[in-house]
Amino acid sequence: MTPTSRKVWEQIAAAFSPILPPQPITTCECEECLDVRANLGHLRWNDVLLPAIEKHFGSLPLLTDDAFQALLPAFLFRALDDISAENKFLEWTLYAVCGAYEEDEATTEAADADRRRRIARFTRQQRESVRAFLALVTVAPNLDIHHAPVAHALAAIWTLGNSAYGIEVSR
Ligand SMILES: [Zn+2]
Repeated sequence: MTPTSRKVWEQIAAAFSPILPPQPITTCECEECLDVRANLGHLRWNDVLLPAIEKHFGSLPLLTDDAFQALLPAFLFRALDDISAENKFLEWTLYAVCGAYEEDEATTEAADADRRRRIARFTRQQRESVRAFLALVTVAPNLDIHHAPVAHALAAIWTLGNSAYGIEVSR
C-alpha cells in the first residue's frame, strides 16, 4: 500500500465501525450466495481482512444492503492494497460501487438510482471515505478504463447531498 492509499484506508477504517451485519447477509438460496453466507456471514469487516475474503472478490453484489455497508471496508482494503489493473478486488469493487455508465441513458439512470438506494444509510463520513477511495482511482495511471465511470459515480451516486458538490467534482 502506498502512503496515499494508507491515508485513504485510515479514513475508511475510521468511518466504518466494525459491526456484525444482520443475518442472513445474502437472501438468495443459490450455491454461490450460500457459500458467501457460510464464509463471511459471521465476520466483521476487520475479521474479513483475513483470508476468508480471498475467493469472494466478486461477492459484494450478492450482499444485503446492511451487509454491504458492514463489509465494504474489507473489500476497499484489498482494493487499496494494489491500485492496478491486475487487482481483481479493485476491479470488482469498482463495479459494485459504480453504476452501468457505458450503457444507454435509461440503464445508467436505473443503475445510479439502484446504487443510491443501496447506500442510502451510509453516513456522511462513510461517503466521504468512499469518495476519497474513488478519487484515488481517478488519478491512477493504467486505470483509464475506470476513470469515466468513477467520475460519473462521484457525481451521480456518492454525493454528499449537496448538488453543488457534484458539479465541483465532475470537472
Ligand atoms: Zn444467489
